[in-house]
Order: sequence, then structure tokens, then C-alpha cells
Amino acid sequence: MKISEILSKNEVTLSMEVFPPKTEVNFENVNNAVGEIADLKPAFVSCTYGAGGGTSKYTVEISKNIKSHGVEALSHLTCVSSSKKTVIEQIESIKEAGIDNILALRGDIPDGLEFPGENQFEHAIDLVNVIKETYPEACIGGACYPEKHPDALDKDEDIIHIREKVMAGCEFLTTQMFFDNSIYYNYLYRLREAGVGVPILAGIMPVTTRRQMERSIQLSGCIIPARFKAIVDAFGDSPDKMKQAGIIYATDQIIDLIANGCKHIHVYTMNKPDIAAGILKSLSSII
Ligand code: FAD
Repeated sequence: MKISEILSKNEVTLSMEVFPPKTEVNFENVNNAVGEIADLKPAFVSCTYGAGGGTSKYTVEISKNIKSHGVEALSHLTCVSSSKKTVIEQIESIKEAGIDNILALRGDIPDGLEFPGENQFEHAIDLVNVIKETYPEACIGGACYPEKHPDALDKDEDIIHIREKVMAGCEFLTTQMFFDNSIYYNYLYRLREAGVGVPILAGIMPVTTRRQMERSIQLSGCIIPARFKAIVDAFGDSPDKMKQAGIIYATDQIIDLIANGCKHIHVYTMNKPDIAAGILKSLSSII
């Protein structure tokens, strides 16, 4: 089923994200964790794509596993570190696997490499266009950044490119993680004002260790509110306390989003079934 159909039902949806293993050795462990997450019956499960590296083949395998648990799958795909030929082959393998949904991403530009390299795509919109040609039946989504993509000059320029991606065929957008809901509300207002009308899935990351918070800031540059910093300062050295506090903080964000009319939430599970289950349990009468 296409994600666009799932999102069009006028119901609150909670979907989840997993990532593939980095090596073959970990495949079974990750696959089992993904199965446990799918068994929680989220609206759909997305699987990230290891840009350009040898791990890229696992995304389709994990997506097939998600579907085998009766849950719709969304395969991520990046184009920045691959030749156009490889990208087209990846789209064909997603199609052959019977995956209906692709999250079209540029990927991060690797340090020290000439960009774009010869025969490479430059932006996610180029990937959207080639998916449209290669697999026209697919439902395509894209990424968006409430606090602005780090490469963009300013928020207005970033939103212009988001609108172009949507006009090219993105039927929904998933946000980068954020820890202050007012940032999402402000961004949503700007998107709607710019004429971007597709569903905007709010990306929520349950942060359950101090290291995870430091890494989240490093990777996404997102703002950590004082309220959350205080939680990490108080509980960051005690794994059980930090885990519980992180689940509650994420759940609190989700409840506030739903109460304010946000229909679609996407949880970055970090492949942790217990954390995904903890959030769902706290929302059992709400979703
Ligand atoms: P783009 O849409 O191409 O945007 C990148 C930058 O280029 C922005 O600053 C934008 O304003 C600008 N831009 C866009 N189009 C144009 C244009 N035509 N002309 C000039 N400038 C333009 N990374 C992975 O490697 N694997 C994953 O699975 C993955 N999943 C993700 C899922 C989500 C929900 C999010 C939010 C991010 C994910 N990422 C993933 C990270 C993502 O690949 C990086 O943030 C990357 O740097 C940008 O990808 P993009 O698709 O947003 O790029």
C-alpha cells in the first residue's frame, strides 16, 4: 500500500524508523529487532539507506522483512555517493522487491570529495525525477528541516527547494528531529504559507543516553531546549533513569503535537523495540 493512502485516512498515524546493519555479522540481530518493532503495528516502518557504502543492499532486505510482518515499508534511497547507473539499479531492486514507497534523499556530501562527481545526481529533486521515470507507480517522500538544512543559505531559500521537491512528486515530507515543538509549528506555518500542502510527518527522536544527545546535536545541529538539557544533566549518568526520562519526553512531545492538530508522527526508534513499545504504551488510549 502507498504511504500516501495511509496518510489520507484522516486518522492520527504513528510510524517508525529503523536502520540497516553496518555489517553482515549484525544482520540477524537487526532483522530481529526490526521484526519486533513491526509487530508493534505502527502505521508503517521506514528503513534508512547507508549512503554509497556496502550496506545499501540491506535496506531492501530489511524492508522486505517489515512487509512480511504485515506492515507497510518505506525504503530510503540516497544519490550523493552513487553513480546515476547505480541509483537506477537501486530503484529497480526496490521495485522488484514489491516495495511501494521510497524516501528520496540526497545524502550528506562526503568530506573532501568533489561534488557532484561525474555522472552523479546533485539534489534530492534529481532523484525524485529519476524515480518518476524508472518506477512511476512508487509513492515518493522527501526530507525537510524545521531548523533549516545546514547547507541552505536561509530558511526561505530552503523552503523554495522543498516546494520544488513537492512539485516534482514528493507526496509527503518527514522532518528532521526537533526537541521543541514550537520550532515545528513555526516551520509548518512557513511551509503552508509557501504553498506546500502535503502531509508533514513530525520526526521525533527519543533520546535515552547522554551520548545520543551529543550525537544528535553533532549530526543535525538541532537546538536542545533548556528543559531537556536539565533532564540529561540530572539523569544522563544513570541508564535506567535516562531511558525512562527520554521515553517520557518524546511521548510528551507527541501528545502536544497531536493536541495541536499534528496528524502524523514518525519515531526514530534507533532499532530499540523496548523504547518504541514504551512510547506506544503511554499513548495506548490516544492513538
Ligand atoms: P536536498 O533536498 O537535495 O537538499 C539539500 C540542500 O540542498 C538543502 O540545503 C537544500 O535547500 C538545497 N537544495 C535542494 N535543491 C536545490 C536546488 N535545486 N538548487 C540549489 N540548492 C538546492 N541520510 C542518509 O544517508 N540515509 C538516510 O536514509 C537518510 N534518511 C533521512 C531521513 C530524514 C527524515 C531526514 C530529515 C534526513 C535523512 N538523511 C539520510 C540525511 C540527509 O540525506 C541529509 O540531511 C542530506 O544532507 C540532505 O538530503 P536531502 O534529501 O534533504 O537533500
